[in-house]
Amino acid sequence: KLASREFHPRSSVVDVAGVKIGDGTPVVMSGPCAVESREQLFEAADIVKKAGAQFLRGGAYKPRTSPYSFQGLEEQGLKFLAEARERTGLKVVTEVTTVEAVDRVAAYADMLQIGARNMQNFGLLKAVGKAGKPVLLKRGLAATIDEWLNAAEYIMNEGNPDVVLCERGIRTYETYTRNTLDLSAVAAVKHLSHLPIIVDPSHGTGKWRMVQPMAYAAIAAGADGLMIEMHPNPAKALSDGPQSLTPEHFERVMNGVKKLAAFL
Ligand code: PEP
Ligand code: MN
Repeated sequence: KLASREFHPRSSVVDVAGVKIGDGTPVVMSGPCAVESREQLFEAADIVKKAGAQFLRGGAYKPRTSPYSFQGLEEQGLKFLAEARERTGLKVVTEVTTVEAVDRVAAYADMLQIGARNMQNFGLLKAVGKAGKPVLLKRGLAATIDEWLNAAEYIMNEGNPDVVLCERGIRTYETYTRNTLDLSAVAAVKHLSHLPIIVDPSHGTGKWRMVQPMAYAAIAAGADGLMIEMHPNPAKALSDGPQSLTPEHFERVMNGVKKLAAFL
């Protein structure tokens, strides 16, 4: 199989518009859950840049549990992301939720995110496999590691080798946390696959207080990077405020990650 370590013994490095994922230096993708306005996104982007992260995240198409929740700014959100890239030099990673939107999102983003809810949307996986952009493939809410790696296979089989996996927690009987962050998946994936893997402790826990310890644990476990939600004002966030870090807290986490990376 294309994603397996047997097929490709050496760990892959995925180059996203010049930023290398999997080369030994952890990358950090941060920003709000959703792009809410130009002002909100620019404020977040400046903080992400200043703290030393490499990627700006922000959803323009949001896969919300309820159809009555904020669904995202769609193409206007993509335009704000592209403007924020011009302003900061950060790379842009953003989710694509439908086959119809793949070309549109690929025109603005540096990396296409497949969300947990779409991990087995095989038509969408094939479409991003043909879109000519690196893909961040999140683990499904209830996906086994084997199912997840098979999802990567769908993308790679279309001719796109640039897949980065993202552990974001799985659903278990535990309700204290939003999901159960499976950090053992990092070690498992490193053994089974040559693909880079990053960890999202924000969706993985659902609680901002748990993001910092789980971010550090992910780096210690060998993750190639992190995805962390940060909002200029989490209390006002239109989505995922409870798991979003404040700018000050995000800067502290970034400093810790840099120290850990230097130590490892
Ligand atoms: C997100 O990154 O904003 C998101 C919706 O994540 P997930 O697909 O992991 O729930
Ligand atoms: Mn979110």
